[in-house]
Amino acid sequence: MNAADSENLARRLLAAGFQEAPLDRADVAVLNTCCVRQASEDKVYSKLHELRHWKTGDRLIALTGCLGVKEGEGLQARFPQLDAVLPIGEYDGFIADLEARYDYSLGEPLPAAGRTGVSHYVSVIHGCNHNCTFCIVPRVRGRERSVPIEDVVSECVEAVADGAREVVLLGQNVDAYRDPGGRGGLAALMRQVEAVPGLRRARFMTSHPRDLEPELLDVMAASDVICRELQLPIQSGDDRLLKRMARGYLTRDYLSIIERARARMPDLGLATDVIVGFPGETEEMYLNTRRLVEQVEFDVVHIAMYSPRPGTYSGDRLADDVPADEKRRRINDLLAVQKSIAAGKTAGWLGKRVEVLVEGFDELGRAYGRSRQGKRVTVKRARCQPGEVVQVLVEDAAPGHLSGPLAA
Ligand code: SF4
Repeated sequence: MNAADSENLARRLLAAGFQEAPLDRADVAVLNTCCVRQASEDKVYSKLHELRHWKTGDRLIALTGCLGVKEGEGLQARFPQLDAVLPIGEYDGFIADLEARYDYSLGEPLPAAGRTGVSHYVSVIHGCNHNCTFCIVPRVRGRERSVPIEDVVSECVEAVADGAREVVLLGQNVDAYRDPGGRGGLAALMRQVEAVPGLRRARFMTSHPRDLEPELLDVMAASDVICRELQLPIQSGDDRLLKRMARGYLTRDYLSIIERARARMPDLGLATDVIVGFPGETEEMYLNTRRLVEQVEFDVVHIAMYSPRPGTYSGDRLADDVPADEKRRRINDLLAVQKSIAAGKTAGWLGKRVEVLVEGFDELGRAYGRSRQGKRVTVKRARCQPGEVVQVLVEDAAPGHLSGPLAA
């Protein structure tokens, strides 16, 4: 979501006549922030400290994103070098102020602010109505607001006209999408998006096991455009912890979604999120998570150590009682388990053909892109251009990464 917000602000600044520049030549620095974990917050504070030395003369520092909402004006009191805190997505006033402040006459019209990337992010729902006890998102991003289907479709049409070949539909909980005009949920939206002429791929994230519509799996399975990829956070493999997290499902519900999804799409790429060291997590509870990870065999598991967030139920009301060393041991143990699962899963692609949307070139000048299952693929011994869709015969497989020549 933050990457999408940054793209949006950058596009608007370009359209207003500003240009992207390295920090040493820039007039304005905008920090787009996240506060989902303490580490993300600390990164912002250290960047603000660094920028103190950069801020000379007429230079300006602005901050947007979740940390701005969480900390509000208190941030400017703490960091006097910070000139403005912008509400998420509301940049009109800021851009007008910049135009007035940097009143340059450029002499000739700037080229239209286009986009060159193959992939384009589209935010389709903002906010979240759930109240997972560890999560700060509902507080900083507010209640759910879905973007009308026709607006999403026109953004996709424009993105394709500007060169994009893939769209990624985003939401904190994308499965909660409901067209405000009553024309359906995410499945209905995906049907409209996949029909956009010239679009080769559509993806969406992040899903929620409580809200995923069964119909969505049918739409995905029948489509050549919608990718075979689900980002479906489980958070814990222990039902007592899932209840304490207020996730609204049990492990059996989660497993039955996976079973249905894989029955329709055996080649589905599956990613999840797990928190280790949540308040009250015993060794037995942790082992339940580990067993679930072994059972499901995810392609990717994003593992985070629990970090209490002030303003959340668990941050304010539950003791952070798993010692840091134990959290580290569990995360390392789970990472090792997942590493060997991922190695086995990627090895299963050896000798097979994968469809790749070329996104760019690596440091050796080789084209790379992603498969429909979300794996990064390097194309060997062939020249192809970003935006092309090619078939690759997999010769080498490392966790999360495949490579090979074009298939005959
Ligand atoms: S569904 Fe996701 S965004 Fe919403 S409260 Fe839970 S973890 Fe946070």
